[in-house]
Amino acid sequence: MFDDINDLYQQVILDHCKKPRNFHEMPQCSCSAQGFNPLCGDNLKLFLTLDGEIIKDASFVGSGCCISKASASLLTENVIGKSKSEASRMFERVRDLVTTGKTTGDVGKLAVFAGVYKYPARVKCAILSWHALMGAIKGEVAPVSTENEQT
Ligand code: ZN
Repeated sequence: MFDDINDLYQQVILDHCKKPRNFHEMPQCSCSAQGFNPLCGDNLKLFLTLDGEIIKDASFVGSGCCISKASASLLTENVIGKSKSEASRMFERVRDLVTTGKTTGDVGKLAVFAGVYKYPARVKCAILSWHALMGAIKGEVAPVSTENEQT
């Protein structure tokens, strides 16, 4: 799919797609949000456990394409231990990265999505879980759809 991304990035995406991290329900979560990408059929639910401003734990369930699952898996790994405002800044960086291929700050392992901007149909797959994250942080109850958002 990604001919011109280097193999390492592709391997990380495939690894997280096949063996998603933090892939389970979280019955005692502080907040959760559903994300739906009708263009691809990705449907994910994200769970957060908060301690004040700090995201103590994050997990997700659902089904979707490889990009959406790998993105959600990397998201959960990335935001655990971060504050809500740090997670919001990370969302903005990841959104810049997947829409332009460039970012203003450190995105950690999410750098594997640097080539997604060349495939406009996959951008919403990559950003879906991040919209769900923002929905959960803001306490939105309605499902988050990529079709209601400015990616
Ligand atoms: Zn998808």
